[in-house]
Amino acid sequence: MIQDIYPSRLNNAYVHCEIEAEDYLLAFNKEGKILVGTDPVRLFPLGKDITSGRQVYIFSLDDKRFFLSLDNIEKPLEGYDFYSIRDARDRFSGKEVFAIFTAYHLWKWYSDNIYCGKCAQKLEHSTTERALKCPKCGNIIYPRINPAVIVGVTNGDRLLLTKYRTGYGHNALVAGFTEIGETLEETVAREVMEETGLKVKNIRYYKSQPWGMALDILTGFYCDVDGDDTIHMDEGELKYAEWVKREDIELQPNNLSLTNEMMKMFKQGKQSFSE
Ligand SMILES: [Zn+2]
Repeated sequence: MIQDIYPSRLNNAYVHCEIEAEDYLLAFNKEGKILVGTDPVRLFPLGKDITSGRQVYIFSLDDKRFFLSLDNIEKPLEGYDFYSIRDARDRFSGKEVFAIFTAYHLWKWYSDNIYCGKCAQKLEHSTTERALKCPKCGNIIYPRINPAVIVGVTNGDRLLLTKYRTGYGHNALVAGFTEIGETLEETVAREVMEETGLKVKNIRYYKSQPWGMALDILTGFYCDVDGDDTIHMDEGELKYAEWVKREDIELQPNNLSLTNEMMKMFKQGKQSFSE
């Protein structure tokens, strides 16, 4: 999965520090495309490549420090070009993709929070934690992470696969965001009912995954169909929802997503109907 970069490690502890010449500088344009090298050896610009503007430290990957440009860059530097996060996912692999997704999540949060939502004053950066502070009314804004669920619904030796109506074209599982006032398990039951009309039981947690591209923390659950297994698909959201036998499950083209790992675990017989 995208976060499985062992023996490398992403250290996201907040540190107040200034960029130096050999630190990486991740920069986005206003559409959220990231500046990366057209020559794969020079992946990201360095601190010395961009000498003006404001930067903030975001994380370290092993012994390399990464900073985020707080100014959107609109013209690519020589030897670099802008790539959408989806393009970057297909172009790179391993820890670089995780760094790009995580930087995107932070860029989106910083760029969505320029002014105080209570009093419209310009926000300032805390120097002690990852937070923005309003100098006028004291409002503090912490990074926003959206909780969501990924659901593997099992039915004997079959798994419920879906395809979204728009966007990602490969096989997926039922998924959705948690609403205010519900538990993750309640999100699982509600999303499966909304998307496919099925009741579920034996909801069991599997793993989680930070998914910066969609500003999410994904939580994966397996569960079993409860009673009638007739699918009533929500055609506004999905274009495909079917029970698929283990051996017929077609996996996604790469191993980045929790969804793919959950499909793979079921395909390999490592997860099964709990009855
Ligand atoms: Zn304020």
